[in-house]
Amino acid sequence: MNKMNIILIGIQGSGKGTQAKLLSEKYGWEHITTGDLFRRNIETATELGLKAKIFIDKGELVPDKYVFLIVKDALEKAVDGFILDGFPRNMEQVHFLQENFDIQQVVLLELSDDKAVERLMARRNCVKCKRDYNILFKKPQRDGICDICGGELVIRDDDTEKAIRKRIEKFHNETNQVIGYYIEKGLLSTVNAGQPVESIHNEIISRLGVE
Ligand code: AMP
Repeated sequence: MNKMNIILIGIQGSGKGTQAKLLSEKYGWEHITTGDLFRRNIETATELGLKAKIFIDKGELVPDKYVFLIVKDALEKAVDGFILDGFPRNMEQVHFLQENFDIQQVVLLELSDDKAVERLMARRNCVKCKRDYNILFKKPQRDGICDICGGELVIRDDDTEKAIRKRIEKFHNETNQVIGYYIEKGLLSTVNAGQPVESIHNEIISRLGVE
């Protein structure tokens, strides 16, 4: 049994979701993404979801008191370990985590801004079935056409270079201090996210010291 509590940090396009899924399948650690927890609460119109929506719609961080409620509940249920994604995003959240949970490792998936922009601009979505493609590594069989339903493949409105660069800047502003803190604590390992999926996965598990 390899119970571990880890934090995965990575810019959009770094393949964080893919890596979290691989780890979760292999070791049974719960993949907990605060953004998804909020989206689920908004869909089911919970009181917390409705409160959080006001901030999310404005592109602001949700106030910590709501974040803590949602995160604490999810982390306490993850008895076999967790992979935390999207949290902590500020120093208050770092301290909350430190006071309530044991974190064994923090993994930073490192990718340059330009590489992230290149990958994100290569994303395509089917207008009909919403399936996603990437013209760099998950190409459709026929250009611009969905393999499954034949629908047209388009670029999402928020995948313009300007919008992507803005999201990246926000990521750096939010995470710089958090990354600095975990470096100082000696908990952070950096993995090059420019490699193939399998190599990144192997490097992460070697850093974590699990088999
Ligand atoms: P994400 O999908 O991670 O970009 O999260 C979507 C939105 O949820 C963010 O823009 C924030 O408004 C909110 N959110 C997610 N995680 C956090 C967090 N750790 N602290 C505050 N707000 C968060």
